[in-house]
Amino acid sequence: MSEKKSKPISVVTGGAGFLGSHLTDRLLAEGHRVIAIDNLITGNVENVAHLSGNEDYRFIESNVSNYILVPEEKIDYVFHFASPASPIDYLELPIPTLKVGALGTHNALGLAKDRHAKFLLASTSECYGDPLVHPQKEDYWGNVNPIGPRGVYDEAKRFAEAMTMAYHRYHKIDTKIVRIFNTYGPRMRLRDGRVVPAFIGQALKNEPLTVFGDGSQTRSFCYVSDLIDGIFKLSQSDFHEPVNIGNPREMTIKQFAEEILRITGTRSTIEYKPLPVDDPKVRQPDITRAKKVLGWEPKVEFEEGIKKTIDYFRGRLKQ
Ligand code: UDP
Repeated sequence: MSEKKSKPISVVTGGAGFLGSHLTDRLLAEGHRVIAIDNLITGNVENVAHLSGNEDYRFIESNVSNYILVPEEKIDYVFHFASPASPIDYLELPIPTLKVGALGTHNALGLAKDRHAKFLLASTSECYGDPLVHPQKEDYWGNVNPIGPRGVYDEAKRFAEAMTMAYHRYHKIDTKIVRIFNTYGPRMRLRDGRVVPAFIGQALKNEPLTVFGDGSQTRSFCYVSDLIDGIFKLSQSDFHEPVNIGNPREMTIKQFAEEILRITGTRSTIEYKPLPVDDPKVRQPDITRAKKVLGWEPKVEFEEGIKKTIDYFRGRLKQ
């Protein structure tokens, strides 16, 4: 058997997105062949431009909510990462967001079942909604408004988790579920509306930083390489219940704005804007399970990760 044939084959849906493209890089580094699928509604081919010509990599432009056509007979892993993932995106794309969480997940599970592949679902801390338990542990069922503007994402991901567990229990598929908390790093879209690119972009242009509400709501930010490391470890484990992956270092959004002002040395000020509907007041992962089951915990300090991210956005703004 040639070396190429013996490599594990991974399908990554949402492969041109922020996380899908970083996951692809990690899988290639681990010796996998990667088939990436993306319809590019929020993904960007520039995120994978460095892979053109790599014989272990193939890109298919397609919408996984319709059907997933992968000619390869042998597939070892399906990583389902396709979805709009920022509040602005899922407000603008409510129906595609619902469809990719529901129909896209069904199709991705169907592909895994057909090829006897392992399956990993990218789920989210949004499953916990505006949480009444803090920090959030995996056994907390959440506090989600099903009909609010964020419901299209939260409920789609909750459905995706239910579908994944059904395939695990009924069809005996080897499935994993990662609940991803706020993550940042290079390849986020400058204008995706999330707080990290928003504040950095504003700071680099000396524009006011738009803090929503009074800025007392909290988030806990994980650098992308740490997140991908946790996800890769989960994919290699035998654990089927959801696992939180994120960085427990929590701060208020106002503190985050002040950190960005300090680190960039901008002339920007802070401007307060109305808080979006159903914006969670607190969010912090309890990562006890990830530590125990995967031996994983985040390593990258906030200062280091945020400086790398600022450098990336500085480069983007010059283009
Ligand atoms: N936020 C903000 N200003 C912005 C964008 C976001 O104050 O320009 C706030 C938002 O209201 C939320 C937090 O930052 O409380 C994180 O928002 P993000 O969109 O990054 O993701 P979320 O964690 O809400 O899914």
